[in-house]
Amino acid sequence: MTPVSAREAHGLLATLTGPVAPRGWQGGHDFRYRLGPGGTQVALDLDIDRTDIAIDNVVATVPGTDPDAGYVLVGGHRDTWAGGASDNKSGWISTMELARALGGLYQDGWRPRRTIVLAGWDGEEYGLIGSTEYAENNAQRLREEAIAYINMDTTAGRSFGAGSVPALDEVIRSVSDAVDAPSGTGSVGEAWSAASDGRRVPDRLGSGSDYTPFLQHLGVPSADIGFSSAGSVYHSVYDNVDYLDRFADPGLKGMTAASEISGTLALRLANADILPMRYSAYAADTLARLDAMQAQAPAGSSLQDTMTAARNWGAATRRLESAGRRLAAGGLTSTERVAAKRINDAIRVQERALLTPGGLAGRPWYKHQVWAPGRTTGYAVLPLPRLAEAAEAKDARAFTEAATDLTRSLQAATAAAEKAAG
Ligand SMILES: [Zn+2]
Repeated sequence: MTPVSAREAHGLLATLTGPVAPRGWQGGHDFRYRLGPGGTQVALDLDIDRTDIAIDNVVATVPGTDPDAGYVLVGGHRDTWAGGASDNKSGWISTMELARALGGLYQDGWRPRRTIVLAGWDGEEYGLIGSTEYAENNAQRLREEAIAYINMDTTAGRSFGAGSVPALDEVIRSVSDAVDAPSGTGSVGEAWSAASDGRRVPDRLGSGSDYTPFLQHLGVPSADIGFSSAGSVYHSVYDNVDYLDRFADPGLKGMTAASEISGTLALRLANADILPMRYSAYAADTLARLDAMQAQAPAGSSLQDTMTAARNWGAATRRLESAGRRLAAGGLTSTERVAAKRINDAIRVQERALLTPGGLAGRPWYKHQVWAPGRTTGYAVLPLPRLAEAAEAKDARAFTEAATDLTRSLQAATAAAEKAAG
């Protein structure tokens, strides 16, 4: 793919002779846009500098008091295509602002219970390189100890946007109520509610930013926190400080709110006696998707067993969550701490259980069975990717294999929840 100017595109587009392009594809030139084919031959001379350049991730650690309780990561990419004031100097500034706040607390003697890792990724625009290398180099520790990864990629603007796995929906809603909206009126949660008919459900994560290696390769529950503005200068040379000051984020209030939301989220995850993650909500979300997928199942294949497993997962995680609530009410005694650790460890393995070791067909690096980017959908998410791809190919055997593996994963998550719920 290579960008061309409107003048060059004119010559290419005007000579296409196929059917009229859909309405959303009609653009600003003074002719009706058509699809291909066309008769124009194009000689494309690409001047691409192929050199090796070192990239640098910046990683800072705020050590917690309980090294056995896992750690929370917050980060954003620090490289840009061009000026990149909103994508992603904004997210990186929000991350550094959080570092400044936590650093001040740290100097006053404060410590979080769980370690908090703050990261600035390099090489994101070239294929999530910095975060992927970090995730692969630290894979074992992340698999064993990571509680969650919170990403910030574009935080300049007035409209709040969140993406996450369903386990984090509730805590994100709760944190959004605790932070002032960048508009100056009410909370972020109130503005989010008004913009979503009261639904406040985060988007599900496809790809296009640094949560991908954590969530889809390693099974670390992830969230993406951001603010945006109407209109877009995405990956444009006009994405500069003047654009932020005058249009996108006057007063940098979105960047401030993103820092407060990610920081509050990180602190709640780092300090909670019982991790505020709801796999019962995840089970309900997954069950609804399985139910919808059943209608597309190739002839002779069925999701009945997988749906039963999802229902059992929901029941077991509800029991785990109420055991956690009972325990946490009124603080923990030292014997209760042992039980709380058991519950937290069971919560921590839930997302990991959703991976399949062999990965997705044709792209084994992607191991998550519930979320992946679609192969042809750009950044957009493809839920239940193995099932969806097998259904689209009408491949009953692949569909049944995917269903069997997912059933087993849901059963493993259920068993871990049941054991800790007692
Ligand atoms: Zn970005």
